[in-house]
Amino acid sequence: MNDLEFDKEHIWHPYTSTIDPLPVYQVKRAKGVYIELEDGRKLIDGMSSWWCAIHGYSNEVLNNAMSSQIESMSHIMFGGFTHKPAISLAKRLINITPSKLQKVFYSDSGSVAVEVAMKMALQYWHSIDNNDKTEFLTIRNGYHGDTWHAMSVCDPDTGMHGIFNGKLSIQNFVDKVESRFGEKCSDKDYNNIRKVFEEKSNKIAAVILEPIVQGAGGMWFYSADYLRKVRELCDEFNVLLIADEIATGFGRTGELFACNHANIQPDIMCLGKAITGGYMSFAVTMATDDVANTISSGNPSCFMHGPTFMGNPLACSVACASIDLLMMSNWKVRNKEIEMIMEKNLSILRSNPKVADVRCLGAIGVVEMKNPVDMGKIQAMFVKEEVWVRPFGTNVYIMPQYIISDDELNKLCTALVNVVEKY
Ligand code: PMP
Repeated sequence: MNDLEFDKEHIWHPYTSTIDPLPVYQVKRAKGVYIELEDGRKLIDGMSSWWCAIHGYSNEVLNNAMSSQIESMSHIMFGGFTHKPAISLAKRLINITPSKLQKVFYSDSGSVAVEVAMKMALQYWHSIDNNDKTEFLTIRNGYHGDTWHAMSVCDPDTGMHGIFNGKLSIQNFVDKVESRFGEKCSDKDYNNIRKVFEEKSNKIAAVILEPIVQGAGGMWFYSADYLRKVRELCDEFNVLLIADEIATGFGRTGELFACNHANIQPDIMCLGKAITGGYMSFAVTMATDDVANTISSGNPSCFMHGPTFMGNPLACSVACASIDLLMMSNWKVRNKEIEMIMEKNLSILRSNPKVADVRCLGAIGVVEMKNPVDMGKIQAMFVKEEVWVRPFGTNVYIMPQYIISDDELNKLCTALVNVVEKY
């Protein structure tokens, strides 16, 4: 049995079957924007490894941050201990995120950060003796992770977890926001969500949403004006706002955090993915003083959550190095250029009869097809074009690394256009 046969027989890959799995490609190494396969082929990366490797693979600065940290300690429990990497990272995060977020809770993955955020919201209301507020409100087309409560606020149809409907806690969903990014919020979109607030705000602990860009639930970009209005409704009806910036954080949408497009302050914010530049699984749930101190004044007065790898020093130090690299770069200008290059190349597909929509924002380019694509078939076509693009459903999209050159990005886009045209 060779390695690939062993893999097929024994290793369960994401979002596929064990009996008839989608093909996998064996990677030998990755450097910068290039992924090298065992058979020697080199692919230009269009996915940033599910949107997190923003500075490229095997980045020297990030490599050094990890190897020097490993010399002093790779891990230490966070109960009863603290350390420089955790403190340095919290200082950076407080500095760059919306100013009301003053408390930093570390965890180990995006889905866990979402669970933590939802638990915080429930405990907040419990702490002030309001036990009616136990539900969440979210927007259709959303995605917040694969753990239990995170699944309950994913779109029940497009969010991959539809088979668990009826088993998960029932949450409140408003229709997909039709007002696009750059547009004012339509009356229809506003009235849809206002109605839920009017009818159910006494039961709703928090709104949870992906600000501006809905990722794995549909790659949809919506109006900043809508987001601003949701913040106003939360204030008017006494509901917390959780911003899930796991996919959008650290510059991906053209602002450092997508909330900045609407100039709003969430009560709780989740960060993950690009926080370590794609080096390690790590996440953060940030909260305002009000949220954290209300929980801490309640009964019980502590927040009962403490993952084994909370505050892992290796992850914290590589996150510090990644944030420093980002902040020292001209990421904002570059992401605008990336957006313009993608728009220029991909716009030709708008007239293609198989294509429903083409949209680009920051370092995200999406070609929405009219029909779902066959992943195995289209993936092989991309590899043949020497690029790595992994679509889902009807969305053929790219999320390039910020360090990609114009030339490499043009090649990536040309391959995308070729594949969509031939598909
Ligand atoms: N929230 C959002 C917006 C995401 O895009 C994802 C992952 N795609 C998650 C949460 C879950 O993160 P993780 O995969 O690290 O658990």
